[in-house]
Amino acid sequence: MKIAFLDSQTAAKIAAGEVITDPAAVVKELVENSIDASSENIRIEIENGGKALIRVVDDGEGINEADVFNAFKRHGTSKIKKIDDLDNLHTLGFRGEALASMAAVSKVTLRTSDSDDGLGTGLRLIEGKGEKQAISCKRGTSISIEEIFFNTPARLKHMKKPGDENKKIIQIVQVLSMSHPEVSFSLLMDNSEVLRTPGKGGLENTLKSLFGERFDSELFKADYQNSPMEIEGFLGSPYYTKKTRDYQFVFINNRYVREIKINKAIEDAYDNTVMINQHPVFILNIKLPPDMLDVNIHPAKTKIKILNESLVMLLLKSGIRKIIRQNLVEKKPHQFS
Ligand code: ADP
Ligand code: MG
Repeated sequence: MKIAFLDSQTAAKIAAGEVITDPAAVVKELVENSIDASSENIRIEIENGGKALIRVVDDGEGINEADVFNAFKRHGTSKIKKIDDLDNLHTLGFRGEALASMAAVSKVTLRTSDSDDGLGTGLRLIEGKGEKQAISCKRGTSISIEEIFFNTPARLKHMKKPGDENKKIIQIVQVLSMSHPEVSFSLLMDNSEVLRTPGKGGLENTLKSLFGERFDSELFKADYQNSPMEIEGFLGSPYYTKKTRDYQFVFINNRYVREIKINKAIEDAYDNTVMINQHPVFILNIKLPPDMLDVNIHPAKTKIKILNESLVMLLLKSGIRKIIRQNLVEKKPHQFS
């Protein structure tokens, strides 16, 4: 016989490799959980590029004491129960894999409370083992990931310099904060604040705090409805372009997606008003009924399958075209107040 079965720890480490590729992936998963828990304030603390510490603190619903171990088990999720629930998905998570993966490749500390009585549950897991205990804790959840990849040397070896890991983390936090402008984010790296969004005043204020006044006079407000699609956010004028697509952010139902064909469709709608080799700037949230989407393509969920894709692309293009034409004719770029 040649075939043997992997022990559970080895299997867990291998599975974790798919979800937890680097510190930025940890930040993404933890922050998405905080968003799913209806948090209003999310604080992210990073030390040494995430190698020493990644901590996400929120003021969301918290986790009940009875659930804390299950949260760290593979396929443990409160977000869906059966496959059909994906047709009505209103959360970012649904795979029940992130916390289990983190527990497999790092030392995890959880502090959480789902009540306002000041009491909660603490749990420290090393290689999936640990005891829970009663602690004093405000409503909300704090998860700390220390010594990421301490038991997966191959991954540890591939970690980049702290500065490079930090860059990826900043990018992901920027994207997450744009996807949920109603939430206030703060990001601290080695104890100094590198980013803070107000969580009030909508996307406009979030963009201002991320990019300063740079975007000010060149963005059109997008606010368009053509059932079943809604488009909201900001579109750059054809005269305000970049050499790369780095300032194009597409969200579908407030989930960041990277599907180049969507970016291209939006660019197409500029109808050659943009100079060759230049790319317009946009930050757009496209709203569609969840049953028209399949986000279960890739663990990171930045890929998406759209039902009736060609029709949706047509709707998208015609919507964008309308917004641009209207604003060009009226010549009124959105003024940030
Ligand atoms: P998923 O997000 O796909 O459900 P995760 O492994 O990321 O899977 O999380 C497992 C479960 O732990 C979640 O379904 C949720 O019930 C709970 N959980 C995780 N993070 C938080 C949080 N910050 N606040 C409240 N509950 C949380
Ligand atoms: Mg999750």
